[in-house]
Amino acid sequence: MEKVVIMGTGCAGLTAALYTARANLAPLVLTGTMPGGLLTTTSVVENYPGFPEGVDGYKLMTDMQKQAERFGARVRFANIEAVDFSKMPLSVTADDGVIETDTFIIASGASHRHLGVPGEDLLETKGVTYCATCDGALPIFRGKPLVVVGGGDSACEEAMYLTRFGSKVYLVHRRDTLRASKIMAARTLTHQKIEPIWDSVVTEVYDVKKDQVTGVKLQNLKTGKESVLECAGVFIAIGHIPNTQLFKGIINMDEHGYIRPLRGGQTNVPGVFVAGDCADSVYRQAVTAAGMGCMAAIDAERYLSALNQ
Ligand code: NAP
Repeated sequence: MEKVVIMGTGCAGLTAALYTARANLAPLVLTGTMPGGLLTTTSVVENYPGFPEGVDGYKLMTDMQKQAERFGARVRFANIEAVDFSKMPLSVTADDGVIETDTFIIASGASHRHLGVPGEDLLETKGVTYCATCDGALPIFRGKPLVVVGGGDSACEEAMYLTRFGSKVYLVHRRDTLRASKIMAARTLTHQKIEPIWDSVVTEVYDVKKDQVTGVKLQNLKTGKESVLECAGVFIAIGHIPNTQLFKGIINMDEHGYIRPLRGGQTNVPGVFVAGDCADSVYRQAVTAAGMGCMAAIDAERYLSALNQ
């Protein structure tokens, strides 16, 4: 029987682990299929406070894990397949057995939606990225033409951010109007460095043979015409998929699958708390996920104290 089980080892999960471990709750942390979370796919993290020279994403996450383990967190490579929150104790079925626990913290994160075109996966971290805030300032992108794919607020935000570094930013969108909020769309479309390419999709990312991004193949969906656009980076911002499928119908979530906390890190199920990108469609930063992990941990600790009284 556990006091705290945490699902996920991204910034939210490991921060929740650190706080609950320091509260002597010996949390059991289950990694899921992507130990360390999305940040491990980023090369240099330059916007996490405390690292004036930046920090390697993988190193940041392994250090966070070590820090939590130092205080008694137990990190286990396991995937959760089912949950039963209908009675106490809460029950979690992992691929290595059933675990009973007083509290459960969901920190399962979100996955970047991929285009699924040739070259995309092979050139990830070699010019293909899913986070301008994380990677935009890297030297390979400076003074070069860049491509952003998508038409939502994220794509606009990424394009605006990249104008600081790229010589030009092409915004490739599959329709001829942006989905983004009006103010964001107007700001983006009036920026002199941003050029929209409407009604178009990226059908391939070049150049796998050179092991770096040199351009994209585009197709205009209205005319069918194909073209090649030279660029040093492809920033894909076509939305995220919160990893919350397991909790559908149990935990309150919005129409996109993001969990809706009641207050702080609390959910609609007593004893179940949430933190990080699976409950955040707006900020999605390492530092905000870590902050939410702290909140969920403190809420869980207070819940356990009340339970014991
Ligand atoms: P989003 O609003 O779902 O937009 C995704 C965009 O990607 C859409 O324009 C969509 O095209 C396009 N897209 C989806 N699948 C595609 C595919 N396979 N190929 C090409 N294009 C594809 O996602 P988001 O921009 O990440 O925003 C998510 C939520 O966070 C929204 O509620 C947004 O308002 C919010 N957000 C807010 C801020 C802010 O307020 N500062 C910043 C970022 C995000 P269609 O338009 O044709 O569907």
